[in-house]
Amino acid sequence: MEVRSSSGSYSIEFASLTAIATDLPSNSFVITDRNVWSHWGSIFDHLPTLVLEPGEASKRLAGAETCYRWLAHHGATRSSTILAFGGGVIGDLAGFVAATYMRGVRLIQVPTTLLAMVDSSVGGKVGVDLPEGKNLVGAFYPPQKVLIPLETLGTLPPREFTNGMAEVCKYGAIMDAQLFGELSRGVSRGQMQSLIKTCISHKADVVQEDEFETTGRRAILNFGHTVGHALEKVTGYSDLLHGEAISIGMVVESRIGESIGHTKTGTTEQLRACLESNGLPTELPLVEEQELIAAMKLDKKALPGQLAFSLLTHIGGCKLCTGVPEEAVLAALKSR
Ligand code: ADP
Ligand code: ZN
Repeated sequence: MEVRSSSGSYSIEFASLTAIATDLPSNSFVITDRNVWSHWGSIFDHLPTLVLEPGEASKRLAGAETCYRWLAHHGATRSSTILAFGGGVIGDLAGFVAATYMRGVRLIQVPTTLLAMVDSSVGGKVGVDLPEGKNLVGAFYPPQKVLIPLETLGTLPPREFTNGMAEVCKYGAIMDAQLFGELSRGVSRGQMQSLIKTCISHKADVVQEDEFETTGRRAILNFGHTVGHALEKVTGYSDLLHGEAISIGMVVESRIGESIGHTKTGTTEQLRACLESNGLPTELPLVEEQELIAAMKLDKKALPGQLAFSLLTHIGGCKLCTGVPEEAVLAALKSR
């Protein structure tokens, strides 16, 4: 599949790790994390490899500096290629490093989590976190290509797999009723390749229409994320994985949509059933509602002091909604 971007188009393909390793340019540098490396690192043992600590804490400017200095020590030049081999954390960090090392070197994304395959490796967003917030420093930097080694899903811990299913369910809810139906009936591992392909083509369609997030189209990908991000922030990014937080967020936002007459009645129930049958949480944990609302007001989509959400119109359709009344949000948070 080809994705168009302002700096040229790039391809997204399924490929085995062996095929990936054979086809790489010889001056490639692999950036990965310890978990991925312990399962699959031997495939790239002929290439210089930087193994970082797993987890969001590596996605910092300090982590980027570690990468820059390692690249410099190993003689990486402007004609080198960086291989981002891991989940979303590695993709964002190594992508950011590729965008900035020597003002930009080639980047190949090799996502190894379901979440990274269907979401973060597509669309060209790269970046790092600050203590003040996630992804506050970054760039739009499309890769040379995205190569998806499906076999790596075989070692992904079940909770991480389920985490990725939240984004898969999101695509169904916002733009593909047929996909949503399949997910509600239950999917097997054998269907993953086709599911991933469907999700990527949806994401590619949206980001091609709105590469730099200027028209509002890309905002539909944010369904569940206004509440989800607030929940992640309020709970200190510790208890909930991203997919788990947005799963709960999608249910709350759907409830908000129903209460203001934007979302078709009954949608929330369908959504909840689908998410739960895919092993995802849908109940809001005990948190201070006002704290959540304060965090939502800082969301990128909102105007100062207002609340904005990407809300479903029905299963398979979604639209950005600004100026949502705070009482509707509070009521949705309280109705458990
Ligand atoms: P995400 O892709 O969900 O944004 P991470 O990059 O943090 O998040 O990856 C989630 C966790 O899964 C990390 O601990 C990472 O080391 C681990 N991981 C990534 N890919 C694999 C894999 N294929 N097999 C086993 N563990 C993996
Ligand atoms: Zn997300």
